[in-house]
Amino acid sequence: MSERYEVLDEIEPGIARVLAHNPSAFTYYGTQTYVVGDDEVAVIDPGPDDPAHLDALVDSVGGRRLAAILCTHTHRDHSPAARPLSERTGAPVIGCAPLALEAVGPRADASFDGDYSPDRVLEDGESIEVDGRSLIAVATPGHTSNHLCFAWGDALFTGDHVMGWSTTVVVPPDGDMADYMASLDKLRKRSDRIYFPAHGPPVTNPAQYVRHLVGHRLQREAQILRLVTERPRNIEEIVANAYPGLDPRLTTAAGGSVYAHLLDLERRGSVVQDEDLWTATGSASRS
Ligand SMILES: [Zn+2]
Repeated sequence: MSERYEVLDEIEPGIARVLAHNPSAFTYYGTQTYVVGDDEVAVIDPGPDDPAHLDALVDSVGGRRLAAILCTHTHRDHSPAARPLSERTGAPVIGCAPLALEAVGPRADASFDGDYSPDRVLEDGESIEVDGRSLIAVATPGHTSNHLCFAWGDALFTGDHVMGWSTTVVVPPDGDMADYMASLDKLRKRSDRIYFPAHGPPVTNPAQYVRHLVGHRLQREAQILRLVTERPRNIEEIVANAYPGLDPRLTTAAGGSVYAHLLDLERRGSVVQDEDLWTATGSASRS
């Protein structure tokens, strides 16, 4: 697949993408907005509120009816164009829930789109009709608490839950490692032919790829547990040991990911926290 920005690339019959011009250490070449359907279409992950990208999306829909604008989750590289695209096309915004803010403090951080306001929220298993076919929501919390994948025939649009170029960032408080692992397990039990992630190339061997992702996380967890079994350590020290040669732009994300593993291990009774130091309890468990 070529990396051309703001043009409609047909990937296979009825599935095309428009690449937004927002490349970064977290988005790879940028956000891939998918346009699915033929005579009637839906847009998945409209992306950042960037005028050039919006124009490209409006052009991509062309004279066809736009049935819905769907978001997998509400990070700023996915959902901000939803409302402006809705205003220009009249199509409803349907899909993931807005982020639930909790009384104890916001789960949102700077990466969240707080303006996202869907016309309709899809629960797990609910669907909409596009071009005479069902587009089905598959709840996949973990990367964020409100993350959905969308199934279209035997293809699955995986948003940031499974990406084609990098492992997914799971950062507390909204990101949750146990949820993420459960959501990988959910995909493992499906029989999708292909994944279309929001970032990176399509995944053409989903079953094998998800097994690899689960293995990678279990390895990371074992490594973290080993490090805090040797002696109490803080997160910075764990990152330095577990991610040698890490791109400095990713240090914060790696720290968040380590923290997500530690919280998961703590819930399972394998580690305890004292101030900023984490220690193994000696009772390892993986349910
Ligand atoms: Zn995201």
